Amino acid sequence: TASLDHSAGALPRHRTRLVRVGRVLIGSDAPVVVQSMTNTDTADVLGTAMQIAELARAGSELVRITVNNEAAAKAVPHIRDRLLALNMDVPLVGDFHYNGHKLLADHPACAEALAKLRINPGNVGAGVKRDPQFAAIVEIACKYDKPVRIGVNWGSLDQSVLARVMDENARLAEPRDAGAVMREALVVSALESAAKAEEYGLGGDRIILSAKVSSVQDLIAVYREMARRCEYPLHLGLTEAGMGSKGIVASTAALAVLLQEGIGDTIRISLTPEPNGSRTQEVVVAQEILQTMGLRAFTPMVTACPGCGRTTSTFFQELASTIQTYVREQMPAWREQYDGVENMTLAVMGCVVNGPGESKHADIGISLPGTGETPAAPVFVDGEKTVTLRGDNIAAEFIAIIDNYVAT
Ligand code: SF4
Repeated sequence: TASLDHSAGALPRHRTRLVRVGRVLIGSDAPVVVQSMTNTDTADVLGTAMQIAELARAGSELVRITVNNEAAAKAVPHIRDRLLALNMDVPLVGDFHYNGHKLLADHPACAEALAKLRINPGNVGAGVKRDPQFAAIVEIACKYDKPVRIGVNWGSLDQSVLARVMDENARLAEPRDAGAVMREALVVSALESAAKAEEYGLGGDRIILSAKVSSVQDLIAVYREMARRCEYPLHLGLTEAGMGSKGIVASTAALAVLLQEGIGDTIRISLTPEPNGSRTQEVVVAQEILQTMGLRAFTPMVTACPGCGRTTSTFFQELASTIQTYVREQMPAWREQYDGVENMTLAVMGCVVNGPGESKHADIGISLPGTGETPAAPVFVDGEKTVTLRGDNIAAEFIAIIDNYVAT
């Protein structure tokens, strides 16, 4: 199959350290890792394990779960056991806020079962309790040899850092605007917390940073600055991106700019699912961002034209959708059997204007007949026309051609 040109257009990857999270590597030259988060009550062992399995099957290489109370902390090792019983060794990340120091100290099996701990420096504690509580979590991470993500979020930014950065700003000859001050406070909070974690004994190769905001331009500015000032691997994500197309577009706009500049070692797309909608959509979007940018390949991609007045029916849109769904569903099995199958390219085109040309550029392409054209659909394999399909079985026959191509 044809392979993607990984380097076309993208700047060299920003240099970061390599961090091991369970069996997954993050940073340095490791592929950008896709991750996601559950929305189940973690105390519900079965429900959470099932959602993690669903996310992992969709392609989430790490899955984060909230560990917010005693019941959740007790559930974590059982969730991990259930996943291992399903032969799923997906690394679990524990998300801790406010009481993480206590939950981890009281539940060593929870600390043991997790592959990474996420700490939010904005709510690890306040006043005189802040440093000891932060130190306690770092100590546990060291004891169990777990990496830590120091995850700053502008919705829960450490107010003492913000106040200090504002004071410093006020003393400048030309003070920066409020947005720049907030961005600087986010970066400072992440970098100072990382320095403190190292001071408390955590290796620099056990730290990942994030500083999430919900505005595209702020996110780009914050991550450019973090990349300039440190070599910790960076976890990218636009927080509270929103629902549907807005969430997808905003996340893609922000992450694509950063990834193109070589910034970002793992990504999470924070979409608000439709009520009863699938949680796996965020995994598919993350994969598609990386694959359409040529940075990674997960599943064969279908190129399709938008259709226009030359298309005679909706058949070609249905065929494009059928083929994309079909190859996505086959991928878990295909990936096991056929090396490089994820790089395969397919084209489903609506008429002769761009159909044959686009089909020739794909590994396999089909050009359906448009208005006034002969009711025949030429198929191209590796750039050569091999057969012309006609009649009512075009979809099944085209799928058979794809199956045959994959198997040979
Ligand atoms: Fe229209 Fe044909 Fe172009 Fe598709 S390939 S958009 S059907 S002209």
